[in-house]
Amino acid sequence: MPVTVAIVGAGPAGFYTAEALLQRGEDVHVDFIERLPTPYGLIRAGVAPDHQTTKKVSRKFDQTATKDLVRYYGNVEVGRDIALEELQALYDAVVLAVGAPADRYIGIPGEDKRGVLGSALMVGWYNGHPDFSTLRPDLNTPAVVVIGNGNVALDVARVLVKTPEELAQSDIADYAAEAIRASPLTDVYLLGRRGPLQARFTNVELRELEDLADAVPMVDPGDLPDAVPDAQDREGRLKEKNLATLRGFAALDVGGKRKRIHFRFFANPVEIIGGDRVEGLRYEETRLEQGRVVGTGRTDTIACGLVVSAIGYRSQVLPGLPDCSAGDCVPNVDGRVTPGLYVVGWAKRGPTGVIASNRPDGLVCAQQIFADIVRGEKPGRARLEPMLAERGVRVVGFADWRRIDAAEVAAAQAGAPRRKFTTLEEMLGVLKAPLR
Ligand code: NAP
Repeated sequence: MPVTVAIVGAGPAGFYTAEALLQRGEDVHVDFIERLPTPYGLIRAGVAPDHQTTKKVSRKFDQTATKDLVRYYGNVEVGRDIALEELQALYDAVVLAVGAPADRYIGIPGEDKRGVLGSALMVGWYNGHPDFSTLRPDLNTPAVVVIGNGNVALDVARVLVKTPEELAQSDIADYAAEAIRASPLTDVYLLGRRGPLQARFTNVELRELEDLADAVPMVDPGDLPDAVPDAQDREGRLKEKNLATLRGFAALDVGGKRKRIHFRFFANPVEIIGGDRVEGLRYEETRLEQGRVVGTGRTDTIACGLVVSAIGYRSQVLPGLPDCSAGDCVPNVDGRVTPGLYVVGWAKRGPTGVIASNRPDGLVCAQQIFADIVRGEKPGRARLEPMLAERGVRVVGFADWRRIDAAEVAAAQAGAPRRKFTTLEEMLGVLKAPLR
């Protein structure tokens, strides 16, 4: 009997694990169980819509999904359509590749006001994720504050200030492109509680802000140190690059551009102010003492109608899983959760690294599975399929996804890669149409 493996979640971490399992040339069946009809996880719903090159990795994932030993069960939710314990009873190994889909809390007063959103919601919204397509963040404001100095903060700031022409070649959800076009937004404030040398931006992403059609990045030169300590090591060299880029920003001329992205370093958010809705954000100026953030007692307020916190993510508790509310990820020992249950990607390590950082997790997981399980004993898909059918679950297979994909591509405006469906009804509606 083949070793049967269910991978919960068809994002990058899941696909790298499937690849690693297949590469070993063992007798194995790999089944993806994915909550949405659409595969690729963060490639589709997290990577910025104007970063199409990054999304091309999905073509490689397609090759994996269409291998004989692999099946894709989309539109199947663990905890709703099948319990985690049931899945464990059906499969020799279950791999959780469920990411870290929830926003971390900022932990300041006023966080619950209308107009304060985590980046998981904001990014999910502009990327057309069905969970967030009805969110309608109010962009009827001249100013937005984005908290955080990581790549997600850059993504959010950049997407919000792009022109319709710049977004035309992206796969941003139609409603988001329209809301951004209609917005009176002129100023985005990027808040870092530490300094430019501690920012987590990667340089390519930072440099993208130089070339925006109608927006200019603004940096206070007084925030920039003269030099980077330890500039010889890799980390130091990366910091030097960012510093050089930021120096370039500080010298830029606004020209005729209407929008600005303001870098506010050494600014720790302390309160969201306003009534029911956000009207501003108060921050305390900071300084660093041996790398630690220390408040100076001086505060300032930025008037804004929207606050997006891009401060990282955490995993969500799946029914039947050990409680992961204490940290950002599923409790595990190098990917092992309990016998037969494994975890990979952000759910294993927390929300760090780029797409390819998930590949080593897949390799480790495949190795562990074949070390722990000598012979396949459980039925896997032979029992899963009738069980889902008995429960009336409308499983979306990979061929079904390809029909959805083709319909999105066919509906694209000139220059855009696709026009995304943003609700389950639209996606499943495609499958009701007769095959041509
Ligand atoms: P991140 O890189 O970990 O950055 C989080 C930022 O939030 C940091 O600047 C952090 O500051 C700040 N922060 C955390 N808690 C805070 C608080 N309570 N108040 C104020 N600031 C706070 O996370 P991310 O931007 O969400 O990105 C996640 C991962 O995805 C990263 O590895 C990123 O590189 C990757 N990613 C890559 C790309 C790309 O390659 N194009 C695009 C998007 C995301 P401290 O440093 O002071 O903690």
